[in-house]
Amino acid sequence: MRHASTVLSGTMARPRGARQRGESVQTLLAELYPNVVCALHHRNAYELLAATILSAQCTDERVNMVTPALFAEFPTPGDLAAADPDRVETLVKSTGFYRNKTRSLIGMAQAIEQRFDGKVPEALEDLVTVPGVGRKTGNVVRAVVFDLPGLPVDTHVTRLSRRLGLTRETDAVKIEMELNDMVEPQDRGNFSLRLIEHGRQVCDARKPRCHDCTLAAICPSATTFGTVAKSAKLAKQRVATKTTAVTKPAKKSSATQHRRGAL
Ligand code: SF4
Repeated sequence: MRHASTVLSGTMARPRGARQRGESVQTLLAELYPNVVCALHHRNAYELLAATILSAQCTDERVNMVTPALFAEFPTPGDLAAADPDRVETLVKSTGFYRNKTRSLIGMAQAIEQRFDGKVPEALEDLVTVPGVGRKTGNVVRAVVFDLPGLPVDTHVTRLSRRLGLTRETDAVKIEMELNDMVEPQDRGNFSLRLIEHGRQVCDARKPRCHDCTLAAICPSATTFGTVAKSAKLAKQRVATKTTAVTKPAKKSSATQHRRGAL
């Protein structure tokens, strides 16, 4: 993986502030992940809505294993709107939270059938009125299927945009608004997909691989998780070890130790 310092020393100046950093992040991520695609298999907006509802607390791979049978049996919103909940529950059970998901799936299909003539609406204000569909899902459908502006903010986008210093917000809607200010409307969907990809491949929630990250040279958190942080941690550990050695109490009698061990 190419390190950001290579890029920065050539054509890109070190960014100042969130907005400039946002531009640099977009450029580097676009080089790193030029062709991003939605990982959920679908053939139309209805199928992507259903797959996104099923993806809550579940892997995309698992959802992709379940949806072929679901879409074969219920190919349109009209079919799913009239479905027997028990049958849908059986089909989606392995994705977890299957009762809630079944309610959302059937509710979604009924809303589309009854209020939108069987067609998934394009406007975000309409999409968020559909059961099981929030801003994130609505933006996914807008960006991926309708090719309209939409920047879905999931856990990866939240984590990376905060670590990269693009926002200090924790609320998904506020993060979306701040990122929208930095990203051109036509690029928002891909930017979200690229952040998600980088979150999965490099900037892990627990163990970000800053030493192998293309964005390290422009990421304010690289020092928190990277080598600087490691040295600081080691120094701290050395101090703690010395302190323990100086203040270590006299050895307890074996009877006391035995009592403590039993607690
Ligand atoms: S440098 Fe570290 S914290 Fe920053 S984006 Fe890369 S992996 Fe994440």
